[in-house]
Amino acid sequence: MKIITPPGRLYVKTDMGTDVEVIGMFLDVGEANAYMEENKEHGVVLEYGHVIYIAAMSDDGSTRRKLRTVRLSCCCCGNGFRGRQHWNQDTGHGLCDSCVDWIQGRKGYEPDDFKRTYGLPGVHYKLTADEVTT
Ligand SMILES: [Zn+2]
Repeated sequence: MKIITPPGRLYVKTDMGTDVEVIGMFLDVGEANAYMEENKEHGVVLEYGHVIYIAAMSDDGSTRRKLRTVRLSCCCCGNGFRGRQHWNQDTGHGLCDSCVDWIQGRKGYEPDDFKRTYGLPGVHYKLTADEVTT
């Protein structure tokens, strides 16, 4: 693992004008994902070029909710959409609103599994129009 900054004390301003405490940066997507697998309360907040910034996130998404949305590819149908990166999805991928409905409409899915795999409505997907930043 290569966290470039010492934990804790780097603040970055997002496109929404919110200062976010970043706990580390990664230069490698695989390492960032591996780190997030082990530290599930942490997630990607910013990507600039090849640098991936990781911050601690509260489970209700109250930190992430203030953050900009990003262009993601749906891991189910492949369509592009704007949402927020969830730690359990490959960087640049998420679940689009149509596929959220489709998967949740099927029998047998566990709500906790869904949240763990795809994140939270209003945070990672199913964003209101005023939450979507461009
Ligand atoms: Zn989809």
